[in-house]
Amino acid sequence: NRRIVLASRPHGEPTEAHFRLEESRIPTPGEGEILLRNRILSLDPYMRGRMSAAKSYAEPVAIGETMVGATVSDVVASHHPDYREGEVVTGFGGWQDFAVSNGKGLRKLDPAAAPVSTSLGVLGMPGMTAYTGLLSIGRPKAGETVVVAAAAGPVGSLVGQIAKLKGARAVGIAGGPEKCAYLTDVLGFDAAVDHRTDDLPGALAAACPEGIDVYFENVGGAVFDAVLPLLNDFARIPVCGLVSGYSLTELPPGPDRSPVLMRNILTKRLTLRGFIVWDFADQEEEFLGEVGTWLREGRVKHREDIVEGLDAAPEAFIGLLKGRNFGKMLVRIA
Ligand code: NDP
Repeated sequence: NRRIVLASRPHGEPTEAHFRLEESRIPTPGEGEILLRNRILSLDPYMRGRMSAAKSYAEPVAIGETMVGATVSDVVASHHPDYREGEVVTGFGGWQDFAVSNGKGLRKLDPAAAPVSTSLGVLGMPGMTAYTGLLSIGRPKAGETVVVAAAAGPVGSLVGQIAKLKGARAVGIAGGPEKCAYLTDVLGFDAAVDHRTDDLPGALAAACPEGIDVYFENVGGAVFDAVLPLLNDFARIPVCGLVSGYSLTELPPGPDRSPVLMRNILTKRLTLRGFIVWDFADQEEEFLGEVGTWLREGRVKHREDIVEGLDAAPEAFIGLLKGRNFGKMLVRIA
């Protein structure tokens, strides 16, 4: 059993030296347990937080422990009444070939209903994040302008497409011309802005002539600075992620601008609300039903970026934090 463990905690950006590949015996499932062979591993930005000891909404991975991660896995042996050999499940198998589970947190997949990899992306945690955050907090109305960054990724791409389905105008922010062209030409966003441009505030203002009513926050930093002056009265800001700052070790230099932010919140009567997808756990069935239907009908599209082999996971994860992925980042293990 090959597994990738957390070798040390990064201070700043993670490198391959923070991970270590280890070999161990294939675990044996006990009574009430299942042996899983991991087929596909999901790489997600939240994993950067688990590498740090800083207090957050979830416990960090311990040094020497297997990196956490969602997987699509085959049941290869079962001593559990609800699971049989040959079934395909999604759960938290981690960065390794095999995992033992007691069934907690597993969901059976029907390979005939949708490709099983979608359970890690558009029909999984990232898709549910987009669906719940946009509809429950952003609440876009027809004719409003919705802006989302990291727009070519699994969360952002679905945010923009749902905004369109609700009759809103969708503007995506992404890194590079290829991702921007994908947003407008393939996903049907109304406009796309490259955050690497020399004049992001100007480019975003040009793409949002009527201001911004919903800003789905995935990124923070310079992107948020460009968004803030464009927000309309009563704008809603689901605060989902701040990926531009996950590896910051100290506050960026410059004056304290929080008074500017607070003044905007007050005078424009903004609603900012942080959320974690599982705050909306009771919407999972509704999400799977509605987005599953949109996917089958071709009303939403998705894209995967798959690397081969468990040993490719650290490099792919490091690249994900820098935008080197194009679509939902996955690792094919077996
Ligand atoms: P993505 O596949 O979109 O990957 C992250 C992307 O962030 C990169 O591809 C890159 O895209 C972009 N990015 C990185 N650094 C910067 C930067 N400095 N400025 C602008 N863009 C940057 O990830 P996901 O769709 O899985 O996740 C998107 C966000 O949602 C993350 O912040 C994540 O933490 C958050 N999230 C939150 C959840 C919650 O429950 N609250 C659940 C799931 C995700 P580009 O090339 O366009 O720059």
